[in-house]
Amino acid sequence: PAGGQKLSPDDPMAKSLHYVEDASEAQRPTREGVPGVEQFCHNCKFLQAGEGEWRPCSIFGGKLVNVNGWCSSWLKTG
Ligand code: SF4
Repeated sequence: PAGGQKLSPDDPMAKSLHYVEDASEAQRPTREGVPGVEQFCHNCKFLQAGEGEWRPCSIFGGKLVNVNGWCSSWLKTG
């Protein structure tokens, strides 16, 4: 949503889920048959509709995450 707040990587829940704004900084295990290197917020089922580089994530209450980020709750779209 307009005026949405960016999720801080220092947020306690973000830390507990190992959220990073640049997915390449994270250790990403293969999940649902998708290699870690192919996992990003932009292909995660929890990313909500939006435009641009920062979009709302339903796991984090609609706070904005970077489309090239990642966290350990990643699941593939669909
Ligand atoms: Fe990104 Fe998905 Fe984690 Fe949200 S749940 S921060 S969209 S990887």
